[in-house]
Amino acid sequence: MPRKRPGALRARQRTTPVLFRSTVTWGTEVFPVPWPTRLDRLSRRTVSAVHRAECGRPDGGGLWPGATDAALRSYRHFLALPGRWLYPRHSVCGCPTCDVPDDVAVARDVLELVRLRLPPGARRELTALLAPLDEELERRTVPDPFAHRRPWRGDGWWHRRMYHESAHL
Ligand SMILES: [Zn+2]
Repeated sequence: MPRKRPGALRARQRTTPVLFRSTVTWGTEVFPVPWPTRLDRLSRRTVSAVHRAECGRPDGGGLWPGATDAALRSYRHFLALPGRWLYPRHSVCGCPTCDVPDDVAVARDVLELVRLRLPPGARRELTALLAPLDEELERRTVPDPFAHRRPWRGDGWWHRRMYHESAHL
């Protein structure tokens, strides 16, 4: 097999797919962020717009790379639970890492935040994706008339549903 000339090697390296197209700053460290290629049922254009919304602010502004994916997984996981009625639960420790997978209302907050930061086309697509999920969440959870007595966690209607009785307050 003929040895490759250095020039040919360099040319090949230049065409290697770029896997890391943005960075996220954590304290003083800068980490490369893999560009996601798939995100639920969203188009590639919207996936890119979501990624830009997640990485577009130095402090994250309540989002982080992969937040939308984690929130959508949490939402679908919650709705896949068996039974006619579902009762959201707070996460035990209350940190964002546990809140998004454990508390469907926090996951929905993340989705709302990213939805509002998307350009119109991508926003329409995420809105359409969320509509049937929201409809099912509303149908399978119970309104909590005393939700206003609980510590405030957000303004979304999804915060005013009956929580599981083991809920940590
Ligand atoms: Zn935690």
